[in-house]
Amino acid sequence: MAVKHIHRNTKTYRTTRRARRIRSVLDVTMKLSLLFIAAVCLTVVAFQTRQFLRRDTGKQFIAQAASMLPGSGDSSGAASGAAASKFFAKSHGLPSRTTGPAAGFKPSLQNLMAKGSPSEAGPDGDAQPAADTQPMIAFTFDDGPYAPVDSRILNVLEAHGGRATFFVVGNRVNDYQSDLKRITELGSEVGNHTFEHKNLEKLDPAAMSFQIESTNDAVEAITGIRPRLVRVPYGAFKGQVTTQAGHPLIQWNVDTEDWKSKDKDQVVQSILANAADGNIILMHDLYESTAEAFEEAVPLLVEQGFKLVTVSELYEARGVSLDPGNVYFGRP
Ligand code: ZN
Repeated sequence: MAVKHIHRNTKTYRTTRRARRIRSVLDVTMKLSLLFIAAVCLTVVAFQTRQFLRRDTGKQFIAQAASMLPGSGDSSGAASGAAASKFFAKSHGLPSRTTGPAAGFKPSLQNLMAKGSPSEAGPDGDAQPAADTQPMIAFTFDDGPYAPVDSRILNVLEAHGGRATFFVVGNRVNDYQSDLKRITELGSEVGNHTFEHKNLEKLDPAAMSFQIESTNDAVEAITGIRPRLVRVPYGAFKGQVTTQAGHPLIQWNVDTEDWKSKDKDQVVQSILANAADGNIILMHDLYESTAEAFEEAVPLLVEQGFKLVTVSELYEARGVSLDPGNVYFGRP
């Protein structure tokens, strides 16, 4: 009985050892197989990626990704997102801007978006040849007309052969008809700042159209020239504003904050510190301090070789068209 028992135990022991050996062999085989499969997969992925990048589809994919970046011939204007705006502002070295004249408007990244027309640069990046290479600055005056300040600004412009753009509020123009006429007689430009200084982002298309076109009607009745350019109050051009306005929207890239400081010296400092070719400088023709600053800064700018031009002249000189549906920030 005992011998039989031992014999049986030995047999069981041998069976268990064989099973373990088989299991460990299977284990190793399994691991090797998995490693082999992983290696094959990696090789296939690497090969496919290389082929993709070599083929035209890969190049097209990369070209498409590149073309989605602003400043590379894209003409979608406000359709570009905030990230694109940020990229563009950064890549174009735009100075940071602060507020417009009314109630603490702080521009978002969206507002930093600069938009040139499709002709600004072709897909190959070739810029149009400059028709006029003299450094230019486009001063813009919002919220007028207001004769006491405008007359001083116009005197300075007349004395130095310069021009500027006045974005007028429609419901003010009949009170300052001779002021408005003098602006155009001196070759300066009258732009549109809506009829009642409204935030266009809050208006439906019909109300938006009234704000813009009734201003154009009023200006044309006095000067005989229908304004072409619009500056939206509060810099508010988001949503449907850009496409519904029906005119090129003109922003700025230098904000003197003259409405805020009402300090002649600070405004002069801001103008001189930001005097660079192609800049659009934002001011407001409602303040004596603005007129004083302009009187002081302009002779210095002229001495430095700057030509003072209207917004339309600035873009025309650079061969860049101003088109409805686009927003412009200077530096064409
Ligand atoms: Zn305004």
